[in-house]
Amino acid sequence: MLLLARIIKSQQQWSIIPVIQMRKNGIVLKYTSRNFENSCAYSSSRSSDTTKSSSDNWTGNRKFSVLKGSDFDLSCAPAERPNLSADLNKMFRQSAVNLLEQPRDKVTQWLDSFDAVITDCDGVLWVYSNIIEGSVETMNRFKELGKKIFFCTNNSTKTRTELLEKAVFLGFSIEEDSIISTAHSAAAYLKNRNFNKKVYVIGTTGITRELDSVGIDHTPVGPDVMEGTLQQYLSQHFKPEENIGAVLIGFDEHFSFPKMTKAASYLSDPDCLFIATNTDERFPMPNLVIPGTGSFVRAIQTCAEREPLVIGKPNPGICEWLIKRNVINPARTLMIGDRCNTDVLLGYNCGFQTLLVGTGIHHLNDVAEWQSSTDPELKKLIPDVYLPKLGDLLQFM
Ligand SMILES: [Mg+2]
Repeated sequence: MLLLARIIKSQQQWSIIPVIQMRKNGIVLKYTSRNFENSCAYSSSRSSDTTKSSSDNWTGNRKFSVLKGSDFDLSCAPAERPNLSADLNKMFRQSAVNLLEQPRDKVTQWLDSFDAVITDCDGVLWVYSNIIEGSVETMNRFKELGKKIFFCTNNSTKTRTELLEKAVFLGFSIEEDSIISTAHSAAAYLKNRNFNKKVYVIGTTGITRELDSVGIDHTPVGPDVMEGTLQQYLSQHFKPEENIGAVLIGFDEHFSFPKMTKAASYLSDPDCLFIATNTDERFPMPNLVIPGTGSFVRAIQTCAEREPLVIGKPNPGICEWLIKRNVINPARTLMIGDRCNTDVLLGYNCGFQTLLVGTGIHHLNDVAEWQSSTDPELKKLIPDVYLPKLGDLLQFM
């Protein structure tokens, strides 16, 4: 782990160029998509904490649970995608055209077709502490042009306040209310269920600080290592806590066998909620595969034999409150991302326009595979437009 930490630290000094050129494969697209539906199905059919919200619902063929946030009304998308008629009027509806190959006046016209921008962070705006070239100027220019901007991240390692501090430090003009994060949303979700038990957390202080801010008790985070043999561990060191009412999983660099054992044991109680901040499989890193939260979630899912409620993208609940409160008009909203099975799929689920940038996980050759596929789930991952990097838009603004 120390060696890995050193490698990661050294990666942070790298130029962004190797990241832009990086090519990633090995995604589990169909899993994530199904998992989303299963997650919602689970939350409605099996969660039964004593404070269960009456707003859990099932509609149509697709099943979505309703989430609620403390400072906003979070609810998953309706059975049918909104704005399908508006969809038909999109200039580049799921064509994945490279905007750099389009006539300038057409790109200008496209820029005028939205007045709200929701962007992913890692792989679009920055990679760790490195700004992706042109991202600050482009996002700030959107704002100068009068467009509403929102940062929406599945990264659970920071609180919303910490994300704001990072964004402002890097030069972005953004307010805390415009930052949508899974750690904050997970805490808000529990708060609005009037959750009054203790949360077993697999994650980091990003989650525990958000839980603290809404007064929800939780277990500590950090290393929980295996001591001795399994038999010795179970007989001498395994001490389950009482009053655990939810297992909440986010990114945890100290993920371990004891944590798996505890989480799955708590989840053997059908009344214990099972919540995941997100299911991203991996982080964008050159020459290394860093497991993402989805890897830990899948491990717990397997031994617990249960499906989690996934708070983050592509669950439309993460930003449905913006639509419900008329903060944004889906047809005139652009979703920007580097990962299609979270960012672009969120855009699809909400009826947003979508832009894929090639500075992270997915690239045009991935899109080409989906375009030639007959699987309707893969078709949902095709973005409207593509750019090598977000900063490429500046020349049109
Ligand atoms: Mg990303």
